[in-house]
Amino acid sequence: MWIRCKCGNIIHDNTDSIPYKGHIISDKEYFKMLELADELIESPIKNREALVMTFRNNIGAKSYIRIKSIFQCTCCGRLLLEDENNQYFSFTPDGNEKKDLLDFSGSETIHYM
Ligand SMILES: [Zn+2]
Repeated sequence: MWIRCKCGNIIHDNTDSIPYKGHIISDKEYFKMLELADELIESPIKNREALVMTFRNNIGAKSYIRIKSIFQCTCCGRLLLEDENNQYFSFTPDGNEKKDLLDFSGSETIHYM
């Protein structure tokens, strides 16, 4: 899949871990996601893999927990946000801001209790 930015750049979405792609979640869906995690942990199901797959399978564009894709054009820095009908709306930066806002340098580690 690809998206054409208003600047003319073609934004490709054809692999995983794309540095200019992100996922955006509303506050309502975020708290629903935390509640889903709590519900699964407290469920009587002992199969941990099934719990993890249940969690993963319920997060997505048309899932119980709804998230949207967001891209940042690497040429002009516009943010392109998807709506529920897979159409993209773009937002232009005020100035010459960073063009890698969706990428993180370095990595964090999992913190277990
Ligand atoms: Zn662009």
